[in-house]
Amino acid sequence: MHNLRKHQGGLMPCMDRARKERRDLESFRDRYHQYYVFAPTGYLILGEDGRIQEANPGAAALLGAEPSALVGQPLHNFLDETARVAFKEHLDCALRLGQPETCEARIMRKFGPPLDVSLATSLLQRPDAEERAYLCVAADITERKRAEAALKRSRDLYRTVADHSFDWECWLGPAGELLYISPSCERVSGYAAREFQEDPGLLERVFHEDDRADWRRRVFGAEDLLQGQDLRIVSKSGRVRWVSPVGTQVEGPGGESLGLRFTLRDVTERKLMEQQLERAVLRDPLTGLANRTLCLDRIGQAMARSRRHNSLFALIFLDIDRFKFINDSLGHVHGDAVLAEVGRRILHCVRSLDTVSRFGGDEFIVLMEEQNSHKETIRVVRRIQQVLRLPLKAGQRDVSLTACYGVVLSPAEYGRPEDMLQNATIAMHAAKENGRDRIKVFNSRMLDKAVERMVLENDLEQAIQNNQLFLEFQPVFGLENGRLTGFEALVRWRHPRRGLLPPTRFVPIAEESGAIVQLGRWVLEKACRTMAEWRKRFPGWGDLKLAVNVSARQLSQPSLVEHVASVLQSTGLPPHVLNLEVTETAVMSNAEVAEEKLGRLKALGVGVAIDDFGTGYSSMSYLQRFPLDILKIDLSFVSRMDVSQESLEIVRMIINLAHTLKIGVVAEGVEKEVQEKLLSTLGCEFGQGFLFSPPLDQAAIEEKLSGCDFERRG
Ligand code: C2E
Ligand code: MG
Ligand code: MG
Repeated sequence: MHNLRKHQGGLMPCMDRARKERRDLESFRDRYHQYYVFAPTGYLILGEDGRIQEANPGAAALLGAEPSALVGQPLHNFLDETARVAFKEHLDCALRLGQPETCEARIMRKFGPPLDVSLATSLLQRPDAEERAYLCVAADITERKRAEAALKRSRDLYRTVADHSFDWECWLGPAGELLYISPSCERVSGYAAREFQEDPGLLERVFHEDDRADWRRRVFGAEDLLQGQDLRIVSKSGRVRWVSPVGTQVEGPGGESLGLRFTLRDVTERKLMEQQLERAVLRDPLTGLANRTLCLDRIGQAMARSRRHNSLFALIFLDIDRFKFINDSLGHVHGDAVLAEVGRRILHCVRSLDTVSRFGGDEFIVLMEEQNSHKETIRVVRRIQQVLRLPLKAGQRDVSLTACYGVVLSPAEYGRPEDMLQNATIAMHAAKENGRDRIKVFNSRMLDKAVERMVLENDLEQAIQNNQLFLEFQPVFGLENGRLTGFEALVRWRHPRRGLLPPTRFVPIAEESGAIVQLGRWVLEKACRTMAEWRKRFPGWGDLKLAVNVSARQLSQPSLVEHVASVLQSTGLPPHVLNLEVTETAVMSNAEVAEEKLGRLKALGVGVAIDDFGTGYSSMSYLQRFPLDILKIDLSFVSRMDVSQESLEIVRMIINLAHTLKIGVVAEGVEKEVQEKLLSTLGCEFGQGFLFSPPLDQAAIEEKLSGCDFERRG
C-alpha cells in the first residue's frame, strides 16, 4: 500500500505538469492573438524581399487596406518616396546585424491623410522555415511628429524674431545647454553669438564676479528668474553693463520641460540714471559715501536683521580731531580733499557689506554688520585709527590726522536707528573729553551723563533771566611785595535744584550749546560794572586789574571786539584795567583768527592773558606774533612744582619764556608757601591761589577793600 501510493505519487505530478504547460501555452496564444487582433500596433511578417506575408488588423488600418489585400505586396510600396530607400537600408541592417532596428517613415494611404510611423524590424527566428523573414512592428507617431514639427516651427519663428530682437535673447535646454542666443548679445556684451556657442562657460563668466552666484541661483536654482535685482555683466572690452533678466520656463505639448527662455535687457542707461538720482538723494556729494538718510536706513535694516538672526553689528562714530583748524589753515579746497581721502581710507578698512557714511562736516559713521565678536569690531576701529594717522598730502603740506571714535555694539534694546546713532555720538564725545585719538565704547553711564548735560543745557537758558548766575572774584597778588594787584572774575550758578554749581560743570556745556555767548556777555558786563563801581568807592587801591575769562567760542564771535568796546563805554571802565583771559588751546586751534582778534582788542587798550598755559601746545612763532600781556601758568604745574622736578622745570621754562617775550607771568593755584617761595626765586611776578585767598563773593571783597586788609598772607 505504502509502495503503491509512492509509485502513484511519482507518476501523477508528471502528467499534471504536461497538462498545465499545454493549458498555459493555449492561454498565452489566446492572449497573444487578442493583442495581435485588437492592438492599434501593426504586426507584419515580411519575406526576405520585403513583401508582406502576414499582417494583423492594426497593420491593415495603418496601411489603409484590408489584411488580405496586403499579402504579397512589398511594404515599401506603401511608403513615401524618400522613405523607400531608407527602408531598404533598414532591412539590410536588421539582416546584417541580426538585431532589432528602428526607423521612421511616412505611409501614403489610398484613403485618408498620410501617417507617420515608427518601424521596428527584427529577424524572425524560424528554424523550420527555409527562407528568412522579418517581424516588423509599426506604430503610429503622427501626433508626436506633428507636435515636433509645431515646436520646430515655433522655434524657427522664435529664432526669426529673436534674431532681429534688440534685446539679448537666450534659450537654455533642460540640462542648461545653450539652444539659442540672439546676435544682439554682441551689442550688449561685445561677444559674438558664435563665441557663446563655442564656449559653453562664457554665458556664466560674462556676468560680473559678484553677480555670478545670483545668476546661477536664478537660472538653475529654486529662485525665480524674475525675482531679484538687475545684474552686471562685464563686456569684452571690460566695461560693466547692467542687464535685467526676464524669462519663462518653456514646456512642450506634453508638459515636459523644454528649458528656459529669457531676455537680457540692457538697462545700463536706466541704471546710471538711477545711480545718479540715488547719489543726489542718498549720497554725500563730497565723498560719495552714504548720507544721513541712507545711513539711518541701513542701521534700521541691520537692527531688523540682527533681531531675526541674532547677529552682531556695530556702529562707529568718528570725528576728526581739530579738523576746523586744518580746514581754516589749509583752506576749504584742501580741507575737502582731506575729507575725501579720509572717506577712501575708511572704506579700505571695511568690507563691502559695511556702510560708511558722512553726515557733513568731519563726522563719519561706519556700520559694520555680521560681526563675530566685539573684539573684531575694536580691531577694525584700531585699523582705521592707524590708517588715518598715516600722513596725507594737502596741497604742499603733509598733515597727519587723528580722530575720536564712539563705538556702539549690538545687541542692545535700541528703539530706533536714531537712538543708536545718538549713543554712538555720546560715546564719541566721551572719547573727545579724554583728548585726541581716543576710542570709547558706549555704556549706559554715558547716557546718564548726556541726559544730565541736556537737562543742564535746558536750565542754563533760564539761568541768566532768573538771576541764578553770580560772580566771585579771586584776588591776584604781586609776589615780590605782596600787594593786591587785581581780581579774576569767576562765574557760579546757583541752580534751583542742584545747588551751587562750579563753572567746570556748566561752562563746557554752554560752550557746546552756544549759550556761552550770552553767558559771557553777562559776565563781562557784570564784572566791568562791579569793578567800575569799586574804583569809585575805593579809590585808594589805585589801578587794580580785572581779569575776565573768554572761551574759544566767544573768541571766534565776530562781534566780540565791538561788545567789549561797548561794555567799556557803558560801564565807564578804562580799557587798561581789563585783562581778557583766553586759553592756550582756544588761541592755538585757530591761530590766524585769534591773532587778528587779539590785535583788535589790543588796539582798544585791553590786555590779553593766555590762561592755563602749558596744557595746550603753542607755536613759538605765534606766541611772538600775538600781542600778549600775561602768561598764566596752569595750576597743574604749580601744584606739583614742589614735588615733581619735571613740573618745576616746566614752571621755570614758562617764566623764562614770559621774560623773553617781555610779558607778565601769573602762577595759578598757589596753595603752599613752598610753592610761593620757589615761584619768587624763579622770578614769577604774580600769584593767585588758596594760599592767598579763595574766590570771594562781591560783598566779601567789598568788606576787605573797605577794611584795607588785602595783604598778601604771611
Ligand atoms: P581758570 O580761569 O584757570 O580759573 C582758575 C580756577 O582755579 C578757578 O576755578 C579757581 O577757583 C581755581 N583755583 C584758584 N586757586 C586755586 C588753588 O589754589 N587751588 C586749586 N585747586 N584751584 C584754585 P573755577 O572757578 O572752578 O573755574 C574753573 C574754570 O572755569 C576757570 O579756570 C575758567 O576756565 C572757567 N571759568 C570760570 N568763570 C568763567 C567765565 O566767566 N567765563 C568763561 N568762559 N570761563 C570761566
Ligand atoms: Mg582764568
Ligand atoms: Mg587757569
